[in-house]
Amino acid sequence: MEARERLLDKYSARVFKNRKDHVITKAEDATEIAANSRTIPGIMTNRGCCYAGCKGVVLGPLKDVAVITHGPIGCAFYSWGTRRHKAKGDENTKNFLEYCFSTDMQESDIVFGGEKKLRQAIQEVVEIFDPASIMICSTCPVGLIGDDINAVAAEAEKLYNRKVIAFSCEGYKGVSQSGGHHIANNGLIRHVIGTGDRPVKKYAINILGEYNIGGDGWEISRVLKRIGYDIVSVMTGDGSYAELKNAHLAELNVVQCHRSINYIAEMLKTKYGTDWIKVNFIGVSSMIKSLRDMAKYFGDEELIAKTEEVIAEELEAVSEELEYYKSRLKGKTAALFVGGSRSHHYQKLLKDLGVETVLAGYEFAHRDDYEGREVIPFIKEDADSKNIESIKVSPDEAKYKIRLSETKYNELKDSLSLEYYEGMIKEMENGAIIVDDLNHFETEEFLNLLKPDVFYSGIKDKYVAQKGGILSRQLHSYDYSGPYASFKGAVNFARDTVMGIYTPAWKYVTAPWKTEPTLEGTLTGGEQSA
Ligand code: SF4
Repeated sequence: MEARERLLDKYSARVFKNRKDHVITKAEDATEIAANSRTIPGIMTNRGCCYAGCKGVVLGPLKDVAVITHGPIGCAFYSWGTRRHKAKGDENTKNFLEYCFSTDMQESDIVFGGEKKLRQAIQEVVEIFDPASIMICSTCPVGLIGDDINAVAAEAEKLYNRKVIAFSCEGYKGVSQSGGHHIANNGLIRHVIGTGDRPVKKYAINILGEYNIGGDGWEISRVLKRIGYDIVSVMTGDGSYAELKNAHLAELNVVQCHRSINYIAEMLKTKYGTDWIKVNFIGVSSMIKSLRDMAKYFGDEELIAKTEEVIAEELEAVSEELEYYKSRLKGKTAALFVGGSRSHHYQKLLKDLGVETVLAGYEFAHRDDYEGREVIPFIKEDADSKNIESIKVSPDEAKYKIRLSETKYNELKDSLSLEYYEGMIKEMENGAIIVDDLNHFETEEFLNLLKPDVFYSGIKDKYVAQKGGILSRQLHSYDYSGPYASFKGAVNFARDTVMGIYTPAWKYVTAPWKTEPTLEGTLTGGEQSA
């Protein structure tokens, strides 16, 4: 029996009926997967909540914004400093990322309402920190008791003369972090983007869906700036309210994490006419392709030549080291289970290093992240996603601008993935397993059945894998290492994986008396020794 069938065989009929469509084996004729649906209660999912997607992922990295978590203290505390989106302030931009702002709701706030406390928190934040903007993120009880955070935000905006935005991202909305991304995207396009007027230079771009984990965004920006790009904003790693206001002025949006930010990419296209392309800055070959695609979009000979020059120099700096790591990793196998984009992006880097992917899956991706954007018209919205607002924007009469002529657009459309993402499955090898919303039982079963050399996942399952003798490297936090993006990042990733796989401790997972019939040793320390 194949690994998939052996796993599913262990489920009760009811669970089998649900999970069989979320676990598939890649084959030419079987690429459809069930995704973005409710998790089975009690199954020990790896998923988080809507608040985590909104506050933790998209808004949290904005350094000059005070993001107030409105709710009891747990949600704020557990999301304080645990996602490694790095940021640096400067003389013009404050950085609040080391802080955690919460209204710390108590029983009386649940009974009598928390608006008063929220008003007080906003006042304290203004007086003590004077942030450029304040964003309020709701947690579960806020929606249940009916606090009107939008009214409080509107009142505070007038009172303190700065942008105050409310996000109704209660944890029970949607089925995962994904709903929170959408809510954050809606708020940013409605209230922030389009309000700035900074002059832009040649080759002005936004980087969308790059959160600067372990410094990834800095490493990507270093290379892009060498080529000559004017980075108007990064959404949202090391990003700021000050930058984001000008995002509508860029000439091109490059999308790294499709899942968390594709809504803004689409709305920027509709409202301001900005084209977007899907890029992948993870892995040397993907990085090179992305840089060439960007240069092709602008079609400027000088930019194309500079791109090739920088690629050659960056490659030369890392090639020798990468070749060595490749020699140590060639022929190894990997399983990847990450949030909504890395399970795809890292497969390219692993391929560069000679590592085969035997299983890959996402916590909260939608079918288009697996199968490609062409399936979007066929995705049926279920009841669980209907409480996530989907907003419609229309062209901004004053600021809308067509970037490419129709002929040029059509010429570039297919070769550049303009407004298109192919999804993860197409590039995977036949026979590989794809799992949506992997749970604890499936993690253990698949690791036993497939025995990959390395399991790339998160903090909750890292030690489960390692106690079973399989290396697990965290692809959310990078195990406190990084950056992993771009040229230098690829070296860091390869080195960390080699160090993990060749760690001598793996030889000691099984006690010697379990495998050797007679143990021989030497006694030392006394006058006599044997
Ligand atoms: S599910 Fe609710 S209580 Fe839990 S972290 Fe999310 S917002 Fe907070």
